[in-house]
Amino acid sequence: MVCMRACGHASLVGSLKSKKYAAKNTRYSIRSFVSYLSNYKLRMFIVAALFVAANVFLAIIPIFIGKLVGALATTPPQTSNAIIYVWALIVCSSGHDILWRSAEIAYMKLLNPLLYSYENILFSEVISKPYPYFVDKFTGKLASYVSTISQEMRGLAETFFYNYISQAVNLLAIIFILSSINWQTSIIFISGIILMAIAGKFTIGNSIKYERIAADVVSTKNGKIIDIIGNFISVKAFHKEFQELQSIRLEQTKTIKAANQSFAWSIFFWGSMSFFVRHLIWPITIAFNVHMFLNGQISIGQLTTLLATILLFSSTIWDIIWQFSQLNLKLARVEEAHTYLFGAVKLKHSSEVARRVAGPIIEQSLTLNNLSFNYPDKADTTVLKDISIVIQKGEKIGVVGKSGSGKSTLAKLLLGYYPVANGSIELDGQTIDTQSLSQLVSYVPQDTSLFHRSVSENIAYATSRDVEHSDIVHAATQANADEFIVNIADGYDALVGERGVKLSAGQRQRISIARAFLDDKPILILDEATSALDSESEVLVQEALELLWEDKTVIAIAHRLSTLRHMDRIIVIDNGHISEQGSHNELLKNKGLYAKLWLHQSGGFIEE
Ligand code: ADP
Repeated sequence: MVCMRACGHASLVGSLKSKKYAAKNTRYSIRSFVSYLSNYKLRMFIVAALFVAANVFLAIIPIFIGKLVGALATTPPQTSNAIIYVWALIVCSSGHDILWRSAEIAYMKLLNPLLYSYENILFSEVISKPYPYFVDKFTGKLASYVSTISQEMRGLAETFFYNYISQAVNLLAIIFILSSINWQTSIIFISGIILMAIAGKFTIGNSIKYERIAADVVSTKNGKIIDIIGNFISVKAFHKEFQELQSIRLEQTKTIKAANQSFAWSIFFWGSMSFFVRHLIWPITIAFNVHMFLNGQISIGQLTTLLATILLFSSTIWDIIWQFSQLNLKLARVEEAHTYLFGAVKLKHSSEVARRVAGPIIEQSLTLNNLSFNYPDKADTTVLKDISIVIQKGEKIGVVGKSGSGKSTLAKLLLGYYPVANGSIELDGQTIDTQSLSQLVSYVPQDTSLFHRSVSENIAYATSRDVEHSDIVHAATQANADEFIVNIADGYDALVGERGVKLSAGQRQRISIARAFLDDKPILILDEATSALDSESEVLVQEALELLWEDKTVIAIAHRLSTLRHMDRIIVIDNGHISEQGSHNELLKNKGLYAKLWLHQSGGFIEE
């Protein structure tokens, strides 16, 4: 049994190269989970009390076995006492069974729903993180860690009620029964258990380090698999199946190598535990008590109770050791996941994801005052420098510049993805933060990735209002999308494939414009909205855009300068700052960067 259990450590992994695994483990994951459960103390108490009661009935059985043997061993046998002890044994056995079933039913009704809900809590914590959080993370790893933590926590709770409680009750009962026979035996047991705890703590500590590495390696591998499958279009297009398989094999090799190191510690752990039980506690206790019996210091009944208790101890102690090792390994796994998702903090479970409410409105103008910006991970590189623009309500602004000059970064700020640290944004003369500003912005990106949901759901995604089907059709018609939607099988109910793969780029873009029609915010940001399209799609998309932006304030980033010729004003960004601005004709007359870009355009694109 020992070997089978030890051999079950399939995911013990890791080489101890990285220092972060050796860092002091402060158990933020378990503390967060306990803080969640602490809201449900009464339920926990009821279930725990039922399990304790069920286990007490089982743990006291050796006492009655000893008494029964004692009553039968006298001459003549004490028949009436023996009958009472038989009844006591029956009551203990049946009582245990009834209480155990009741505890299980209470667990199912009172705790199981809470435990499953923990995944929602974690998902809510993750999804409410700001934009930069996701930029820095491996999305596949995020998904796999959310389910790792919730699964492991469910497992831990189950183990606590089903195993730890019975082990604690058994251990207390064993010590109590043994002390009632003679104090020397209880001293042998207590000393043995203390020595086991010391040796166990040392050996398991090493397994924990490896298990954290394991969690990291395994989840990185899972994240890669999700990433590869998610990008199956590129894999197929470039025939990279073999290379991707090789990269996963490499990850697998790391896992196996580390597993063997950890396995060695596992064997050492079980070996030391087995040594204490089989070579010390068992032989010393049995030899000592048989000696006492032969000297007439304990009765045959007491010796029987003792032997029955040792049997109970054997099954209990292996369970305790197994659970102890598993607990530590599981905690190491969840701690690694927790640190990746949330950092070294205890969750307060307060992140309610609020439904967006209608934002402010624009009466006159939007002003950017001396905006400068660095990405959080590139503190020494200023991407936007002293950007100052006044945009009048209804004005159509084009933003151009070479690739990497900072155009999309400006859009990201206006969309509220990052807070503004340097400079300010004013709406009608009042300073406004980017989060609030984002509530009056509709966005059409270069390539819209859609959810694997129906066309209608994808369009309706833009708004938190309750919309009728006719609203969705109207928005799609304005976006020149209705004509292709009605021609696909299932029409508005058709599923679009993961990230919208079943639709062409032009079709996805028109869905995105339909979203913006439905969203109907006063400011519209277009980020290269037509640059990925063929000319036929571009005409349809451009037509739809012009209808969309009629009564809106527009900021349109474009690579293809011809699409911006008729904008009220064009802002030229060069290396993060505004180098010039004016209408298309004014900028051409200026003979500055814009005129140069215009001249250098071949086929409508800026030459890099
Ligand atoms: P453009 O839209 O003009 O092509 P961007 O605004 O996308 O340029 O990028 C401006 C600069 O900011 C580039 O040097 C780019 O590498 C950098 N950058 C863009 N996004 C990030 C990010 N999330 N983190 C760090 N740097 C970024």
